[in-house]
Amino acid sequence: MKKIAVFPGSFDPITIGHQEIVRRGLHLFDEIVIGIGNNTSKNSYFPVDKRFAFIEKVFSAEPRVSVTVYEGLTIDFCKRMNANFIIRGLRTAADFEFERAIAQMNSSMEPAIETVFIISGPEYSPISSSIIREILKNRGDVSKFVPAGLDLS
Ligand code: ADP
Repeated sequence: MKKIAVFPGSFDPITIGHQEIVRRGLHLFDEIVIGIGNNTSKNSYFPVDKRFAFIEKVFSAEPRVSVTVYEGLTIDFCKRMNANFIIRGLRTAADFEFERAIAQMNSSMEPAIETVFIISGPEYSPISSSIIREILKNRGDVSKFVPAGLDLS
């Protein structure tokens, strides 16, 4: 049976931190489905179609990575994708506390789906989409923090 993992998130926008989690996840799983959670109550900076296009471009040469937009619970999305794993990245202790509760709730709702945490490399741990959005709002240069070749302007 193929090991399929969902990597869920907002990816608003995708960063080199996300990219490195996917790259490392590919050592563990046969396929990774990047799931862009389209949370209607959350105002995004980039519309979902742009976030989708950025991710598609970044992984265009990697056939084991796909990208899908979803609404609703991540565990329901995993079932639709035949995925038994959820990947989440951990940067800080604060990430851990937040993620712990979500993973435990998900596991209690659907024990067959295991959340796997990948600790970010030290060079990636300060990178967050929210700080990148702040830099963009103030017309700063984010090219160091996002995958090469994306036009975020
Ligand atoms: P969410 O809104 O679900 O937190 P994000 O797009 O911000 O969505 O993050 C998606 C996942 O990627 C989360 O597991 C987050 O911890 C992880 N992540 C974000 N930035 C980094 C980074 N720099 N290094 C490692 N993991 C990261």
